Amino acid sequence: MARNLDPKCRQCRREGEKLFLKGEKCFTDKCAIERRSYAPGQHGQKSGSRLSDFGKQLRAKQKLRRMYGVLERQFRSIYQEADRRKGVAGENLLQLLESRLDTVAYRMGFGSSRTEARQVVRHNGILVNGKRVNIPSYLVRPGDTIEVVEKARNQLRIKGAIDAAGTRGFPEWIEVDMKAMKGKFKALPARSDLSSTINESLVVELYSK
Ligand code: SF4
Repeated sequence: MARNLDPKCRQCRREGEKLFLKGEKCFTDKCAIERRSYAPGQHGQKSGSRLSDFGKQLRAKQKLRRMYGVLERQFRSIYQEADRRKGVAGENLLQLLESRLDTVAYRMGFGSSRTEARQVVRHNGILVNGKRVNIPSYLVRPGDTIEVVEKARNQLRIKGAIDAAGTRGFPEWIEVDMKAMKGKFKALPARSDLSSTINESLVVELYSK
């Protein structure tokens, strides 16, 4: 299976902001963005100021893709589905990304990062409405319940991740019973619930060409 093998902190530095790709390290002063918040490479400290419109659209798309850990081909097909649906394509795109099982499991604290949550999903660690689902791109629907399988509930990394997520607080659109390691995807997130640094309109402009 294809994977993005670029070093994670380098991806954040490229996009000039924290994308939270490395779990707990992202919340400490060891975060590479806290130390060097300029783009990597020889000209990193100069880049970014003179981007063309196309350059800005490309960066907005790359940032979103990296944030959700989705490869180009899959990202484009998610966009096509977002565009096909009723409503605003950019918002649909964000809602589709937030509905992915790996992201929902991450939001519920079943992994300290999306990568870790994806691994838990792939290793048969998650039930959706009581049934095992091991496909990270599976789309969760409002009202669905997601839980960690009984066998995996004692895993220290999952316990640690859910405790840390609980301390920081869960997003509005999900509800989590930390003790039972079970959560409900209450609704699709509203645009205002998601990061204001995402510019989905630029992504739509890029793909609409
Ligand atoms: Fe990004 Fe996390 Fe690395 Fe910081 S520690 S640069 S947020 S992946």
